[in-house]
Amino acid sequence: MIEIRFHGRGGQGAVTASRILATAAFLEGKHSQSIPMYGTERRGAPVTAFVRIGKKERMVRSLVHEPDYVVVLDPLLRKSVDVTQGLKESGMLILNSSVTPDQIEVDKHVKTAAVDATEIALQVIGRPITNTAILGAFCKATGEVKLESVIEAVRGTWSGGLAEMNIKAVEEAYNQTKVGTPIFVEKIQRETVSSNSKADWRTFQPVVSVEKCIGCKQCWMLCPDGCIDMVDGKCVIDYNYCKGCGICAEECPVDAIEMKMEVE
Ligand code: SF4
Ligand code: SF4
Repeated sequence: MIEIRFHGRGGQGAVTASRILATAAFLEGKHSQSIPMYGTERRGAPVTAFVRIGKKERMVRSLVHEPDYVVVLDPLLRKSVDVTQGLKESGMLILNSSVTPDQIEVDKHVKTAAVDATEIALQVIGRPITNTAILGAFCKATGEVKLESVIEAVRGTWSGGLAEMNIKAVEEAYNQTKVGTPIFVEKIQRETVSSNSKADWRTFQPVVSVEKCIGCKQCWMLCPDGCIDMVDGKCVIDYNYCKGCGICAEECPVDAIEMKMEVE
Protein backbone atom coordinates (compact mmCIF):
# COMPACT_ATOMS: atom_id res chain seq x y z
CA MET A 1 0.00 0.00 0.00
CA ILE A 2 1.18 3.54 -0.72
CA GLU A 3 -0.05 6.66 1.03
CA ILE A 4 -0.04 10.15 -0.42
CA ARG A 5 -0.70 13.51 1.22
CA PHE A 6 -1.68 16.58 -0.81
CA HIS A 7 -1.10 20.13 0.43
CA GLY A 8 -2.64 23.10 -1.35
CA ARG A 9 -4.72 26.19 -0.83
CA GLY A 10 -8.46 26.62 -1.23
CA GLY A 11 -9.10 27.22 -4.95
CA GLN A 12 -6.12 25.20 -6.25
CA GLY A 13 -8.02 21.92 -6.38
CA ALA A 14 -6.11 19.69 -3.92
CA VAL A 15 -9.24 17.70 -3.08
CA THR A 16 -10.07 17.25 -6.78
CA ALA A 17 -6.48 16.14 -7.44
CA SER A 18 -6.77 13.48 -4.73
CA ARG A 19 -10.05 12.26 -6.23
CA ILE A 20 -8.63 12.08 -9.76
CA LEU A 21 -5.55 10.18 -8.55
CA ALA A 22 -7.66 7.68 -6.61
CA THR A 23 -9.88 7.22 -9.69
CA ALA A 24 -6.85 6.70 -11.94
CA ALA A 25 -5.58 3.96 -9.62
CA PHE A 26 -9.05 2.37 -9.54
CA LEU A 27 -9.11 2.36 -13.37
CA GLU A 28 -5.92 0.29 -13.22
CA GLY A 29 -7.71 -2.32 -11.11
CA LYS A 30 -6.22 -1.18 -7.78
CA HIS A 31 -8.08 -0.34 -4.62
CA SER A 32 -7.94 3.30 -3.66
CA GLN A 33 -9.29 5.88 -1.24
CA SER A 34 -9.51 9.66 -1.48
CA ILE A 35 -9.93 11.45 1.85
CA PRO A 36 -10.46 15.22 1.94
CA MET A 37 -9.72 17.11 5.15
CA TYR A 38 -11.93 20.14 5.29
CA GLY A 39 -10.82 23.13 7.30
CA THR A 40 -11.48 26.75 6.44
CA GLU A 41 -13.12 26.38 3.02
CA ARG A 42 -12.01 29.70 1.62
CA ARG A 43 -9.95 30.66 -1.35
CA GLY A 44 -6.31 30.80 -0.20
CA ALA A 45 -6.65 28.80 3.05
CA PRO A 46 -4.33 25.78 3.47
CA VAL A 47 -6.07 22.53 2.46
CA THR A 48 -5.02 18.88 2.90
CA ALA A 49 -6.23 15.70 1.20
CA PHE A 50 -5.07 12.09 1.29
CA VAL A 51 -4.97 9.09 -1.06
CA ARG A 52 -4.31 5.41 -0.40
CA ILE A 53 -3.59 2.94 -3.17
CA GLY A 54 -3.14 -0.78 -2.55
CA LYS A 55 -4.87 -4.00 -1.66
CA LYS A 56 -8.35 -3.81 -0.23
CA GLU A 57 -7.64 -6.04 2.76
CA ARG A 58 -4.82 -3.76 3.91
CA MET A 59 -6.76 -0.51 3.68
CA VAL A 60 -7.29 1.45 6.87
CA ARG A 61 -9.62 4.42 6.97
CA SER A 62 -7.67 6.95 9.01
CA LEU A 63 -5.91 10.12 7.92
CA VAL A 64 -2.41 9.59 6.50
CA HIS A 65 0.30 10.37 9.05
CA GLU A 66 3.39 8.78 7.45
CA PRO A 67 3.02 9.28 3.71
CA ASP A 68 5.22 7.73 1.05
CA TYR A 69 4.67 10.79 -1.11
CA VAL A 70 3.83 14.40 -0.33
CA VAL A 71 2.44 16.51 -3.18
CA VAL A 72 2.46 20.31 -2.77
CA LEU A 73 0.29 22.37 -5.14
CA ASP A 74 1.40 25.80 -3.95
CA PRO A 75 4.95 27.10 -4.40
CA LEU A 76 4.93 29.19 -1.20
CA LEU A 77 3.16 26.87 1.21
CA ARG A 78 6.43 25.36 2.46
CA LYS A 79 7.27 28.73 4.00
CA SER A 80 4.55 28.34 6.60
CA VAL A 81 3.48 24.65 6.63
CA ASP A 82 5.66 21.67 7.64
CA VAL A 83 4.85 19.67 4.51
CA THR A 84 7.46 16.96 5.18
CA GLN A 85 5.98 16.07 8.58
CA GLY A 86 5.86 12.27 8.81
CA LEU A 87 7.18 11.78 5.26
CA LYS A 88 9.05 8.46 5.13
CA GLU A 89 12.82 8.68 4.63
CA SER A 90 12.42 6.56 1.48
CA GLY A 91 9.70 8.90 0.28
CA MET A 92 9.42 11.70 -2.23
CA LEU A 93 8.34 15.30 -2.12
CA ILE A 94 6.63 16.46 -5.32
CA LEU A 95 6.57 20.24 -5.53
CA ASN A 96 5.10 23.00 -7.61
CA SER A 97 8.28 25.03 -7.91
CA SER A 98 10.07 27.19 -10.45
CA VAL A 99 13.47 25.91 -9.28
CA THR A 100 15.08 22.53 -9.96
CA PRO A 101 14.82 19.74 -7.35
CA ASP A 102 18.51 19.93 -6.40
CA GLN A 103 18.12 23.62 -5.48
CA ILE A 104 15.37 22.92 -2.94
CA GLU A 105 16.13 22.75 0.80
CA VAL A 106 14.46 19.85 2.62
CA ASP A 107 14.80 18.66 6.24
CA LYS A 108 14.49 14.95 5.33
CA HIS A 109 16.61 12.55 3.31
CA VAL A 110 14.08 12.17 0.53
CA LYS A 111 13.96 12.54 -3.24
CA THR A 112 12.35 15.63 -4.69
CA ALA A 113 10.49 16.20 -7.94
CA ALA A 114 9.67 19.69 -9.19
CA VAL A 115 7.64 21.29 -11.95
CA ASP A 116 6.45 24.86 -12.43
CA ALA A 117 2.78 23.88 -12.22
CA THR A 118 1.62 27.49 -11.72
CA GLU A 119 3.25 28.58 -14.98
CA ILE A 120 1.77 25.59 -16.83
CA ALA A 121 -1.69 26.22 -15.36
CA LEU A 122 -1.55 29.92 -16.29
CA GLN A 123 -0.48 29.11 -19.84
CA VAL A 124 -2.87 26.22 -20.46
CA ILE A 125 -5.90 26.94 -18.25
CA GLY A 126 -5.48 30.69 -17.82
CA ARG A 127 -5.79 30.47 -14.03
CA PRO A 128 -3.37 29.30 -11.30
CA ILE A 129 -5.34 26.08 -10.65
CA THR A 130 -2.46 23.65 -10.33
CA ASN A 131 -4.19 20.36 -9.48
CA THR A 132 -4.00 18.64 -12.86
CA ALA A 133 -0.48 19.82 -13.65
CA ILE A 134 0.81 18.46 -10.35
CA LEU A 135 -0.79 15.07 -11.16
CA GLY A 136 1.29 14.95 -14.33
CA ALA A 137 4.34 15.52 -12.12
CA PHE A 138 3.23 12.74 -9.76
CA CYS A 139 2.87 10.25 -12.64
CA LYS A 140 6.27 11.09 -14.09
CA ALA A 141 8.17 11.18 -10.78
CA THR A 142 6.70 8.12 -9.08
CA GLY A 143 5.42 5.80 -11.82
CA GLU A 144 2.73 4.68 -9.35
CA VAL A 145 -0.08 5.37 -11.86
CA LYS A 146 0.04 5.61 -15.63
CA LEU A 147 -0.33 8.90 -17.49
CA GLU A 148 -3.16 7.37 -19.56
CA SER A 149 -5.09 6.46 -16.40
CA VAL A 150 -4.87 10.03 -15.06
CA ILE A 151 -6.02 11.34 -18.45
CA GLU A 152 -8.99 8.95 -18.39
CA ALA A 153 -9.83 10.07 -14.84
CA VAL A 154 -9.64 13.73 -15.95
CA ARG A 155 -12.09 12.94 -18.79
CA GLY A 156 -14.44 11.45 -16.19
CA THR A 157 -14.22 14.64 -14.10
CA TRP A 158 -14.77 17.31 -16.76
CA SER A 159 -16.02 17.33 -20.34
CA GLY A 160 -15.38 19.29 -23.54
CA GLY A 161 -12.83 22.09 -23.59
CA LEU A 162 -12.31 22.02 -19.83
CA ALA A 163 -11.26 18.37 -19.96
CA GLU A 164 -8.92 19.03 -22.91
CA MET A 165 -7.26 21.98 -21.13
CA ASN A 166 -6.68 19.93 -18.00
CA ILE A 167 -5.31 17.00 -20.01
CA LYS A 168 -2.87 19.39 -21.68
CA ALA A 169 -1.79 20.62 -18.23
CA VAL A 170 -1.21 17.00 -17.11
CA GLU A 171 0.84 16.23 -20.24
CA GLU A 172 2.91 19.44 -20.11
CA ALA A 173 3.78 18.84 -16.47
CA TYR A 174 4.59 15.17 -17.17
CA ASN A 175 7.09 16.27 -19.83
CA GLN A 176 8.65 19.04 -17.74
CA THR A 177 8.99 17.31 -14.35
CA LYS A 178 12.51 16.80 -13.03
CA VAL A 179 13.57 14.48 -10.20
CA GLY A 180 16.65 15.05 -8.04
CA THR A 181 18.23 15.03 -4.63
CA PRO A 182 17.47 18.18 -2.63
CA ILE A 183 19.83 20.06 -0.32
CA PHE A 184 19.54 18.54 3.16
CA VAL A 185 19.19 21.05 6.01
CA GLU A 186 18.64 20.20 9.69
CA LYS A 187 15.85 22.68 10.16
CA ILE A 188 13.74 24.71 7.74
CA GLN A 189 13.11 28.26 8.94
CA ARG A 190 9.41 28.91 8.60
CA GLU A 191 7.66 32.24 8.60
CA THR A 192 5.57 32.96 11.62
CA VAL A 193 2.62 35.25 11.13
CA SER A 194 0.00 36.45 13.59
CA SER A 195 -3.01 34.15 13.89
CA ASN A 196 -5.29 36.68 12.16
CA SER A 197 -2.92 37.46 9.34
CA LYS A 198 -3.61 35.93 5.92
CA ALA A 199 -0.34 37.08 4.36
CA ASP A 200 0.93 33.49 4.12
CA TRP A 201 -2.19 32.43 2.17
CA ARG A 202 -1.08 34.44 -0.84
CA THR A 203 0.43 33.09 -4.05
CA PHE A 204 -0.32 36.35 -5.88
CA GLN A 205 -0.25 39.86 -4.50
CA PRO A 206 -2.49 42.70 -5.73
CA VAL A 207 -0.48 45.74 -6.77
CA VAL A 208 -2.36 49.01 -7.26
CA SER A 209 -1.47 51.61 -9.87
CA VAL A 210 -2.15 54.94 -8.16
CA GLU A 211 -2.14 56.65 -11.56
CA LYS A 212 -4.89 54.38 -12.94
CA CYS A 213 -7.09 54.23 -9.81
CA ILE A 214 -10.17 56.47 -10.23
CA GLY A 215 -11.33 55.94 -6.63
CA CYS A 216 -14.60 54.18 -7.54
CA LYS A 217 -14.47 52.02 -4.34
CA GLN A 218 -15.53 48.87 -6.20
CA CYS A 219 -12.60 46.93 -4.74
CA TRP A 220 -13.24 48.37 -1.28
CA MET A 221 -16.85 47.13 -1.40
CA LEU A 222 -16.06 43.66 -2.77
CA CYS A 223 -12.89 42.63 -0.88
CA PRO A 224 -14.07 39.60 1.17
CA ASP A 225 -11.53 40.31 3.91
CA GLY A 226 -12.14 44.04 4.27
CA CYS A 227 -8.46 44.78 3.86
CA ILE A 228 -8.81 47.71 1.44
CA ASP A 229 -8.91 51.33 2.61
CA MET A 230 -9.55 54.41 0.54
CA VAL A 231 -6.89 57.00 1.30
CA ASP A 232 -7.03 60.38 -0.48
CA GLY A 233 -9.47 58.84 -2.96
CA LYS A 234 -7.14 55.95 -3.85
CA CYS A 235 -7.24 52.25 -3.00
CA VAL A 236 -4.69 51.11 -0.38
CA ILE A 237 -4.29 47.41 0.52
CA ASP A 238 -3.34 46.05 3.95
CA TYR A 239 -1.00 43.20 2.99
CA ASN A 240 -1.13 41.73 6.49
CA TYR A 241 -4.70 40.66 5.88
CA CYS A 242 -4.88 40.35 2.07
CA LYS A 243 -5.12 36.66 1.12
CA GLY A 244 -4.47 37.27 -2.60
CA CYS A 245 -7.86 36.08 -3.86
CA GLY A 246 -7.73 38.49 -6.83
CA ILE A 247 -11.36 39.61 -6.60
CA CYS A 248 -10.30 43.28 -6.44
CA ALA A 249 -8.25 42.91 -9.65
CA GLU A 250 -11.09 41.09 -11.41
CA GLU A 251 -13.64 43.73 -10.46
CA CYS A 252 -11.65 46.94 -10.95
CA PRO A 253 -13.30 48.71 -13.92
CA VAL A 254 -10.07 50.39 -15.09
CA ASP A 255 -7.59 47.53 -14.50
CA ALA A 256 -5.75 49.51 -11.85
CA ILE A 257 -4.89 46.35 -9.87
CA GLU A 258 -2.45 43.76 -11.16
CA MET A 259 -1.91 40.37 -9.48
CA LYS A 260 1.82 39.71 -9.23
CA MET A 261 3.29 36.41 -8.10
CA GLU A 262 4.92 36.38 -4.66
CA VAL A 263 8.62 35.55 -4.68
CA GLU A 264 9.24 31.82 -4.02
S1 SF4 B 1 -7.21 43.02 -1.38
FE1 SF4 B 1 -7.88 42.01 -3.26
S2 SF4 B 1 -6.66 40.15 -3.35
FE2 SF4 B 1 -6.50 40.92 -1.26
S3 SF4 B 1 -8.12 39.84 -0.15
FE3 SF4 B 1 -8.98 41.78 -0.85
S4 SF4 B 1 -9.96 41.30 -2.80
FE4 SF4 B 1 -8.59 39.61 -2.31
S1 SF4 C 1 -11.75 49.27 -8.14
FE1 SF4 C 1 -9.93 50.04 -9.19
S2 SF4 C 1 -10.41 52.15 -9.68
FE2 SF4 C 1 -11.91 51.49 -8.16
S3 SF4 C 1 -10.97 52.14 -6.22
FE3 SF4 C 1 -10.35 50.02 -6.58
S4 SF4 C 1 -8.39 50.20 -7.61
FE4 SF4 C 1 -9.34 52.19 -7.73
